[in-house]
Amino acid sequence: MSKSQVYNKNDILTVTIDDIGHDGEGIGKVDGFTLFVKDAVIGDTVSVKIMKSKKSYAYAHLEKVLIPSPFRVEPVCAYHKSCGGCQLQTLSYEKQLEFKQNKIRNNLIRLGGFEPEFIDSVMEPIVGMDEPYRYRNKAQYPIGKDKNGKVVAGFYAGHSHNIIPNTNCYLGVENNKEILETILAFMEENHVEPYDETIGKGLVRHVLIRTGFTSKEIMVCFVLNSSEKKDGKYFPKQETLLDALKAIEGMTSISVSLNRENTNVIMGKQIINLWGNPVIWDRIHIQEENKARLEEAVTSKDKSSEKPYLGEFAPTGQYLDFTISPLSFYQVNPIQMEKLYSLALEYAGLDGNQTVWDLYCGIGTISLFLATKAKQVYGVEIVPQAIDDAKANAKRNNITNAEFFVGKAEEVLPEFYAKSDADSAMRNPDVIVVDPPRKGCDNACLETMLLMKPERIVYVSCDSATLARDLRVLCDGGYEVKRVRGCDQFCQGVHVETVVALERL
Ligand code: SAH
Repeated sequence: MSKSQVYNKNDILTVTIDDIGHDGEGIGKVDGFTLFVKDAVIGDTVSVKIMKSKKSYAYAHLEKVLIPSPFRVEPVCAYHKSCGGCQLQTLSYEKQLEFKQNKIRNNLIRLGGFEPEFIDSVMEPIVGMDEPYRYRNKAQYPIGKDKNGKVVAGFYAGHSHNIIPNTNCYLGVENNKEILETILAFMEENHVEPYDETIGKGLVRHVLIRTGFTSKEIMVCFVLNSSEKKDGKYFPKQETLLDALKAIEGMTSISVSLNRENTNVIMGKQIINLWGNPVIWDRIHIQEENKARLEEAVTSKDKSSEKPYLGEFAPTGQYLDFTISPLSFYQVNPIQMEKLYSLALEYAGLDGNQTVWDLYCGIGTISLFLATKAKQVYGVEIVPQAIDDAKANAKRNNITNAEFFVGKAEEVLPEFYAKSDADSAMRNPDVIVVDPPRKGCDNACLETMLLMKPERIVYVSCDSATLARDLRVLCDGGYEVKRVRGCDQFCQGVHVETVVALERL
């Protein structure tokens, strides 16, 4: 085989983009030499300039789109390139879903060592959104100054802390704009300084806004470079600020979070409520998928002619209410969250007789879903505050068959395994559900799961690469993958959630 051509920095090339990389960048080849091109869309023919070259590949800058891809769409946001939060915004939503479906599939095959035919037999169509914008219930805006000294809210331009002003992110709710503009006007009028991290001076670092999609309650939390004040006054003319915010429909909670550290961590540990409730609440509805429609979508041969099946879910009438504080972890896309949790519940196959472990349970959202259909649920989570929330949430929903433990899953589970009676339900659960962070499950956790021999395991994952690795361990340990389903929680971005059902052989 002939050696492929090597290209150098500043070379200008024409390339057709035929793949999408993990971060949403376009990938194309010229004479066997691979080019990674940010902002190029699959199907484009583009002119690029090489920025950084290696032996067999290079990173190139998009100079000009010569022939636009049929999958290119007009971006809704003027800042999509500089922001970097919506890596896929110029790609049609249908193609975004296809990219995510393939990403999961490829990771399971390449990193999990599963046969392509097998994965195709267990993978169902990814669950998408009808309206893939305005879905986020949480927004965190840095506050700063522009070149002219005007106070602005926006987002950091890629790899920097320069703020690009934008109060209208299309992933967030429309209300955010009015809230931010009210805050900025107040700061200008009353000479309240934004925090300047280069000198460690100024007051307002970030504004966090959370919205309950069902409750319509709004929470604003200011992250301040300040320490606790005895008189409870954090701003000059604080009443004016509170009055202006209170006038916004739905406002129920205003607080400050104190953070004097020179750090990238946004929230401080201490939260002080200035007005209203310290928390907001929201409702999560248990849903059920239309099985006939799913079946039709899986078996239908002609997939090209019609709109792809996005999942058709309807509420069962059952719901759970949750309390959310400024510091609580809570899924950012509540519409897709209901579908994801409902799938996890369905995959758990409960009929009221099962004992279930829910590992990495956060504030107990999945645990309480499971508790509606299980005999007993045990939740494990590393953050003590989240476990306090989980217990309070159980109470709020009159759920008495869920118990929660603080600790690392890889420590708590082995401890219970070692100390419980050999025939106890805790040691012999029927189902184990896991929803770990991106790094996946610790090996000690997986090993104990195998020792406990549950009938079923449900794996909810936000990173299909570590999912693939962990599924290999579980399958080598006597389990079989039965169903795999992507769920698009992060439309316009590159991440995707996956839920997997496993059964013991
Ligand atoms: N199931 C929850 C939370 C999922 S996010 C939900 O859907 O809301 C993952 C959670 O795992 C986080 O709450 C994080 O704090 C927790 N976590 C991280 N490492 C952990 C570990 N080693 N053991 C237990 N929990 C852990």
